[in-house]
This record gives sequence, C-alpha cells and structure tokens, in this order.
Amino acid sequence: MDDVLIVGGGAAGMLAAWRAASLGARTRLLEKNARLGVKIHISGGGKCNITHAGDMESVRQAFRREEARFLHPSFRRFTNQDILALLAERGVGVHTRSDGRVFPDSGRADDVIEALLSRLRQSGVQVDRNVSVVEVMVREGRAAGVRAAGQDGERILSARAVVLAVGGSSYPKTGATGDGFRWARALGHTIVPLRAALAPIYLAHPTPEWSGVSLRDCLVRARCGGRDVGRWRGDLLFTHHGISGPAALGVSREAAAASETGAVSLDVDVLPDLGHEEIAAVLVQEHARGGSRVLRTLLQRWLPDRLVPAVAAAAGADPGAPIHQVARKIRNRLCETLKRWDLGAVRTIPMERGEVTAGGVSLDEVDPQTMASRRVPGLYLCGEILDIAGPVGGYNLQAAFSTGWVAGEGAARDALAGCAAPTAPPGIPGQIPEG
Ligand SMILES: Cc1cc2nc3c(=O)[nH]c(=O)nc-3n(C[C@H](O)[C@H](O)[C@H](O)COP(=O)(O)OP(=O)(O)OC[C@H]3O[C@@H](n4cnc5c(N)ncnc54)[C@H](O)[C@@H]3O)c2cc1C
Repeated sequence: MDDVLIVGGGAAGMLAAWRAASLGARTRLLEKNARLGVKIHISGGGKCNITHAGDMESVRQAFRREEARFLHPSFRRFTNQDILALLAERGVGVHTRSDGRVFPDSGRADDVIEALLSRLRQSGVQVDRNVSVVEVMVREGRAAGVRAAGQDGERILSARAVVLAVGGSSYPKTGATGDGFRWARALGHTIVPLRAALAPIYLAHPTPEWSGVSLRDCLVRARCGGRDVGRWRGDLLFTHHGISGPAALGVSREAAAASETGAVSLDVDVLPDLGHEEIAAVLVQEHARGGSRVLRTLLQRWLPDRLVPAVAAAAGADPGAPIHQVARKIRNRLCETLKRWDLGAVRTIPMERGEVTAGGVSLDEVDPQTMASRRVPGLYLCGEILDIAGPVGGYNLQAAFSTGWVAGEGAARDALAGCAAPTAPPGIPGQIPEG
C-alpha cells in the first residue's frame, strides 16, 4: 500500500507528489499519458508563462473574489518565489516581462517540466505513466485507493490518501478529459457548471479574410440583454472563426456564462484612450485642412488596412472620399463606430479550446488549508479540477503549483498520522520552510 496516490501528472500533481514525498510519504503518481506535464509543454505558446511577478497579495487579487479567498492560505504557503527558487535550483533562470509575466530564459516550457521531473526523481516518487485511473475507491467512508487501467490490464491500487490532480476538461488531447468531475460528483461533491475560460470566441458571422489581423490595445465588450456582461482590454486577433488574442480570451468566461441566458454580442472600442470628443476633434481638424487626403489614410492611423473598409462601411462612410467632403453626420457616426464597433453575435465559445476550465469542484467543499475534501476523508483536490480560473498571465499555473503543494502536504500528513514518525528521504534539498 502507498501512503499517497496522486492522480494526474500536470503542474498540480507534480507539486503534490514532490511535497508529499519530501515529507516522507511513500508516494505514487499515476498519469494516463506517456509523459508528464503535457499542458505545461504547450503553455505560453511553448514558452511557459510560469507565474506572475509581484507580491502574492496582488497575484491573488487577480482572481475572482471567492477564488481569491480560497487561494489565500495556499498562496501564502507556496509562493511565486518558491516555484522560481525550485526551478533555479535546477538551473532554470527566468525573466519577467514588463507586464509581470515570468518566463524561463531559455524560452522552453520543457525546461520547467524537466526541473519538476528531476525533483520527483530525487524525492523518490514512484511515477507510473500510461496508467489511466478509472475510479476512486472508498472503503468505510474513506478514500482508499483507485482502480486503474494500464498496459497490463486493470488493477486496484490502495493508499492511505488520494489526491485528485486530473485538471479540467478543456484541451482534452492533453489528457484532461473531465474524469475528475465525474468521480467527484459520484463521491458527493457539487460540480459548479463547467464553462470555457480564456477561450477564443467563434462569431455567428466571422470574416475569414481578416484572419491573422490584429487590433492593438483595444477594449472588447460582451453584451447580453442590453447590458455589458464583460469587458477586457488588450490585443485582439481575428481568426477564421471569429476572434482570439488576450482581449477575446479575457472576456470569454463572462461571455460563455451569459450565453446560457441569452444571445451575446460583442463590440470593440478601437481607441480606448481617446474620448468621443477627442476623435471628433481630429476629424474636424482633418476636415478643415482641405486638400486631397482621403478618409482611408486617416483611418489607417488607427486601424489595420484590412479593417478600414469594414469600419468605414459600418459608419456609412466611403473610405475613398476626400476628408474635407465627409459630412458632419458621417464623422459623428465614425466616432461612434470607432468607440463601439459591432462584431455581431457570438456563435459559440468552444470549451475544448479554453486555456482553462471555469467551474469545477465547489470551493465550499474543500478545506483551503489542506485541500482536503469536506465530503470524503482521505481525498484531496488541487489544480484545475477546482472551481478556479484566473486570467492570462501565469496565474493559473501558480494556482496549480500552490494548491498542489498544499494538497501534497495535507495528504502526506493525513496518511502518516498514526504511522511511525515520518522521515524524509535523505539528501532532499530545497524543502520549503512553512509559514
Ligand atoms: C494552450 C494552453 C496554454 C496555457 N498557457 C498557460 C500559461 O502560459 N501560464 C499559465 O499560468 N497557465 C497556462 N495555461 C493553463 C495551465 O496550463 C493550467 O491551468 C494548468 O496546467 C492546470 O494544471 P493541472 O495540473 O491542474 O491540470 P493538467 O495540467 O491538465 O494536468 C492533469 C493531468 O491529469 C492527467 N489525467 C487526467 N485524467 C486522468 C486519469 N483518469 N488517470 C490518470 N491521469 C489523468 C492528465 O493527462 C494530465 O496530465 C495554459 C493552458 C493551455 C491549454
């Protein structure tokens, strides 16, 4: 029998396994893929935005209020500096971009995975790859192991504590296929409805010719039932199906939630730093200058070439018209269009393309100090299986690292309680002091 079984070898599972083994618990990690950390491998476009810089209070505040409250203990106990120290000890240097996002100097997410694997090896974690857990076993009301299918068929693995670190249900090709939600529900947990977050948005009437065009630093608003339901400022990328890029990803969670109650439409403020009057003043100035300059030339100052005809058409303007001939009514409409350019209705926000899954195991049913289930003794939950979804910026990996570390510790202490005093395997450097 193992002391601790960790199900899932992503960011949360690897930290949980390392922490549990570091405390002296006999720890086994089960991963259905042939390799660990598949999602880390594709994170940040393969460069891995490991975490977000700054004090942990500001990192925490980037989450929704109830998520931030839940994360308080784990963010105090395993911080962004802790994960960076762990990586530094394995030779992974990092740099922080001006927006606070932290990346490995090498630009290789695989270096992060390798550093974590080396920790697992050193702390004596038994890693079983190509093993897919099918069911969580409960004996006498307590999580007691799992039923797992591997290359040699099915087997029951017993343990004193079980940690579920199986992720969410977006990007299912990475292995995160929502198994944990089914088990948790069967074990009596509430699953907050699952939705895409940080996902591209598919429009009802996309313009494939705009695919690849970006709008820099704009404000995207999602509207439903005549009111704004979400907004996000950042770069926007047009795709074959609609929109992507930070601004689209940022508004996707709210848009996905609202789309369950009614039709959602999107609009864009192309010039969020300029008020209506300031844009109008530029147009009046250009109008007064006379000459042969056409409207297109002016709009190209604010918009990529390929979008100019569409924005002009939405305002009823002819982009080829000399500016001094553009009537005041049209100039006003141009201002309005630049401040609220209608992208039309949302068709869908694909869950499988979300960088994270919003929703999941209800936070009320998990002890934030230990990540222990409040429903099933001996069961621990961490990472994306929980009802937590942070914004873009390294926040989600940090949440997985911190909750994983705390779950590993909680499970190890639980498993070892009543056993002989635990002894950490010799020569494990870098154990992070508590507090
Ligand atoms: C394209 C993309 C880019 C991203 N970029 C960033 C970024 O740069 N920065 C950031 O902070 N966040 C990023 N994220 C989000 C971040 O990667 C996740 O929030 C984080 O990896 C979640 O970690 P996890 O360990 O909870 O889950 P996962 O990483 O999904 O790990 C779960 C593991 O459990 C395994 N598993 C599932 N079911 C079973 C089973 N039945 N039996 C055995 N094993 C099972 C899976 O195979 C998987 O390996 C990105 C996500 C995506 C999809």
